[in-house]
Amino acid sequence: MDQYVYDFAEGNKDMKDLLGGKGANLAEMTNLGLPVPAGFTITSEACKRYLAQGTHVDGLDEEIDQHLAALEDAMGRKLGDPADPLLVSVRSGAKFSMPGMMETVLNVGLNDESVDGLSRQAGGNDRFAWDSYRRLIQMFGKTVCDVPGEEFEDALHQAKVAKGVKDDVQLDADDLRALVSAYKKVFAKHVGHDFPQDPRHQLDLAIEAVFRSWNADRAVLYRRQERIPADLGTAVNVVAMVFGNLGPDSGTGVAFTRDPATGESGIYGDYLQNAQGEDVVAGIRNTLPLADLEKIDKKSYDELLSIMATLEGHYHDLCDIEFTIERGKLWMLQTRVGKRTAAAAFTIAAQLVDEGMIDLDEAVTRVSGAQLAQLMFPRFDLAGDPSPLTRGVGASPGAAAGEVVFTSADAVARAGEGKNVILVRRETNPDDLPGMIAAQAILTSRGGKTSHAAVVARGMGKTCVCGADELEVGRDQFTVGGRVVHEGDVISVDGTTGRVYLGEVPVRPSEVVQYFEGDLDPALANEPLVAAVHLLMTHADEKARLKVRTNADTGADAARARRFGAHGIGLCRTEHMFLGDRRELVERLILAHNPTERNDALAALQPLQRADFLDIFREMNGLPVTVRLIDPPLHEFLPSLEDLAVQVAVAKERGEDSPRDERMLAAVRRMHEQNPMLGLRGVRLGLVIPGLFAMQVRAIAEAAVALAAEGGRPRPEIMVPLVGAVQELETVRAEAEKIIAEVVGDSGVEVLIGTMIEVPRAALTAGQIAEAAEFFSFGTNDLTQMAWGFSRDDVEGAFFWRYLELGIFGISPFESIDRDGVGRLVRIAAEEGRAARPGLKLGVCGEHGGDPESVHFFHEVGLDYVSCSPFRVPVARLEAGRAAIESVGSDHR
Ligand code: PEP
Ligand code: MG
Repeated sequence: MDQYVYDFAEGNKDMKDLLGGKGANLAEMTNLGLPVPAGFTITSEACKRYLAQGTHVDGLDEEIDQHLAALEDAMGRKLGDPADPLLVSVRSGAKFSMPGMMETVLNVGLNDESVDGLSRQAGGNDRFAWDSYRRLIQMFGKTVCDVPGEEFEDALHQAKVAKGVKDDVQLDADDLRALVSAYKKVFAKHVGHDFPQDPRHQLDLAIEAVFRSWNADRAVLYRRQERIPADLGTAVNVVAMVFGNLGPDSGTGVAFTRDPATGESGIYGDYLQNAQGEDVVAGIRNTLPLADLEKIDKKSYDELLSIMATLEGHYHDLCDIEFTIERGKLWMLQTRVGKRTAAAAFTIAAQLVDEGMIDLDEAVTRVSGAQLAQLMFPRFDLAGDPSPLTRGVGASPGAAAGEVVFTSADAVARAGEGKNVILVRRETNPDDLPGMIAAQAILTSRGGKTSHAAVVARGMGKTCVCGADELEVGRDQFTVGGRVVHEGDVISVDGTTGRVYLGEVPVRPSEVVQYFEGDLDPALANEPLVAAVHLLMTHADEKARLKVRTNADTGADAARARRFGAHGIGLCRTEHMFLGDRRELVERLILAHNPTERNDALAALQPLQRADFLDIFREMNGLPVTVRLIDPPLHEFLPSLEDLAVQVAVAKERGEDSPRDERMLAAVRRMHEQNPMLGLRGVRLGLVIPGLFAMQVRAIAEAAVALAAEGGRPRPEIMVPLVGAVQELETVRAEAEKIIAEVVGDSGVEVLIGTMIEVPRAALTAGQIAEAAEFFSFGTNDLTQMAWGFSRDDVEGAFFWRYLELGIFGISPFESIDRDGVGRLVRIAAEEGRAARPGLKLGVCGEHGGDPESVHFFHEVGLDYVSCSPFRVPVARLEAGRAAIESVGSDHR
């Protein structure tokens, strides 16, 4: 039978699937001999079973009985014992951290009798005991029984009004006793029965409520945002309560072993005296810097530092820690490998290499392409020396400007209108998640680097400044230093420095982009971040098996991509070269009445094309350049049918003669297609319009010969689009080979001819097609379109939201490769292509070439290269390195 409950002593940090992150790490700390309150973890399997059945799980009660008895023995107290009660917290903890998204119930075990026992335990502190009891009824009511939270808040408000005080702390034991009665009435009114007095019943109900919170709306939304699978379930931790709110010698805090914003080593964290953990995370009161704890309680401070060193040494990574001090005794409540900003991820990985804690392979796997992409975002350009409106804690870096909004709903609404918004709140809570997702940045007036806003924003890679305590945040305006900023006013928020500016501050490229561009300000060369990026990128390149090329169709793009580390061009789309002032030549080509007119138009285009290619070949001298012959339907280069029809009709009405427009209209009508994506495009166009491909092939070959004549080393590759049958390719190839032979002569220039694999039939007949192709490049945009039957230009905006909501896919298949379907076509084509022609060169040039997840897939399938837009080249290089390192790691396992 499955084991559903594990004592902390039975688990370890590698059991996250079963025990969740929190449970696994509590177990690890227990086994390291650190001071962890006794407790046990109910597995995520139990949660999954509970959610599937919708009712309690057979055998679970008995296991809980056993572990509770062991917990009671360890603590020398019984759950809810009226004389000397054991109280427990019931906390969620999934495999992946979902800060504040699921539920927690504290102080379970309190009832009308044990509240007196608790008071005695606390040295006759009645106030503390009754405050704990009212917190239990409130949390239990909201979480377990869905009592609206405002009802409790109203009752608390009335108690303060009756007493004529403003703060909760001004309520004494008698007030709180009366408040408990009021809360019980609220509870009974909504739930239909009294607040449960049986401690064990409280515990069971709390556990089930935490299970259910896995499917709470905000948890579902967070998982979707963070791409966390929906079927993991949460573990539940039942832990003996320790109290940070027993007086000035108690408190609670959060600590990081390094700065999670920049990666610098030091003492980072927040401490709140005489408070419970929730108060810190909720950012309700402004916290003290952790370093101040040294003055308050030196013994606990020293012990904490030594534990932090133990944890870093053990995990070989930045750890974040939650702790409580109960009357001078330190307790560890949680640790995990901490979330960090993109900059900190790079800096810390490089530092750990320097410190000999990890090797370079490990360091590369600790950073991601998504983080690198964030580092490439622009920064504020402060050349105009704008003076900041105020300053808070730079909690999550980035530079963002937008209109101020004050509620999550407004953020969602305005962002839906296409506006950039900044969500300004006193503090955020998990219900603000939709607004945080919609906003460009989050600004709060309270809370530190560990507040909800900071933790969630860092997880999402969103700019965040918190604890800007000069802000007075109102309903539809905030004031700072006598200035009033209204809803809709624009502010700029710098998540690195914590500065906030009125109006829109211009932006400049990031130093990481400057580094890639090779024009880094020398003063920045030793910046830890730039040095870290250099170290890790160099190692990723050494390890990568996949090469990274770029999609570029101008010399300037080619040059930039080369600076960014591209190993050539994987896709030069030639259709872009038919626009602008060349439209007229294209029109002549389309309207040609006879071969002479058509040949004239092609002859006029040919030197222009040759110049285009020469420019690109020069920039990519020595590296392969794949030029794709023209792909889209020609009528895309003509005016729209509707516009032209109206124009001609109006002219006719006026009795004016417009023979050119009429001819054009007839041509557009002739070429009009119901399904142009499935129509006369790609190789089909080349087979139907005599001379079109021949003109391009000649221009490519001539440009290559011209570069060779200059002493360069051109490596052109001609790519035929939309091939579905080998016969199509053979026909184009035969004509192209003749032209190439004629043009290159004995210049030594070699031109490869290959094809795109973007029609499912091509993938399925790859063995035949490989006979006529020296390379394949997977056009995964069209391959996805045609494999799914999704119109690539329409469906994402039209209905993908519903597919995402239903979990049919977790991410658009146009963004990240659909491994099972489209991926299978890629696998088949790669295998059958290589079987027919060993050494066949394989690449991908659809959008997926720059998507981190997909890059790992292309590595696994054994492609030679991925090709992506210039700005994604560094991202793909890093992911190609990670894929190589990780696949070696998994071969060893
Ligand atoms: C593709 O289909 O993946 C591709 C690269 O070609 P295009 O996007 O130009 O159709
Ligand atoms: Mg295509």
